[in-house]
Amino acid sequence: MSFVFPPPATVSMPVVGTTERFPVHRVYCVGRNYEEHAKEMGFTGREPPFFFLKPTDAVVVVEAGQTGTIPYPSLTKNLHHEIELVVAIGKGGKDIKAADALKHIYGYAVGLDMTRRDLQGEMKKQGRPWCIGKAYDHSAPIGPITPAAQAGDVANAELYLQVNGKDRQRSHVSKLIWNIAETIEHLSAAWELQPGDLIYTGTPEGVAAVVSGDTMVSEVKGLGTLTVKVT
Ligand code: MN
Repeated sequence: MSFVFPPPATVSMPVVGTTERFPVHRVYCVGRNYEEHAKEMGFTGREPPFFFLKPTDAVVVVEAGQTGTIPYPSLTKNLHHEIELVVAIGKGGKDIKAADALKHIYGYAVGLDMTRRDLQGEMKKQGRPWCIGKAYDHSAPIGPITPAAQAGDVANAELYLQVNGKDRQRSHVSKLIWNIAETIEHLSAAWELQPGDLIYTGTPEGVAAVVSGDTMVSEVKGLGTLTVKVT
């Protein structure tokens, strides 16, 4: 087969303990999945889960031990960080029940759902799609995948994000409104999940702005740290 121009390379992530890489299919994100974050955004935290997507090529893969960089994006004056546990799907399926969901997980990673908050807010006000606020280029930095068997007790892990050495977000995965299995049940009712799908599970409270020159260090215990600098 020949193409009219070279097709883009497959986006792929390193996997802890192997040189084989995890090819990324889609990037799903859960909105308002920690009660205290829902409240800081002006909601009750008692809604059913809802989802949005980012383009696969918005993923910024940060190799183990490296510092990733993201450019300060265009159009915004209020770029926010959101630390999130990311679930990597290894086995696809639709209408997956929560009781079976863990079998579909390949592993876990630490991700940032970077957000042009001012643009997202404007779109919300007007009842328009969030894409310009959430799904822009370089909006999804992520670290290596830890296979599920090596990841420890992710469901109860602490997660945090620091900017220039100071705490901004600190919580526990156990505070998810919709836990990992329930999230997969809801998501797979709406889309057929495929191997390679990533699910950003939502962020706890403490979201705030970063500017050029800031360095974010984030961690979900058991999955290593993710360091990203805004340039
Ligand atoms: Mn988010």
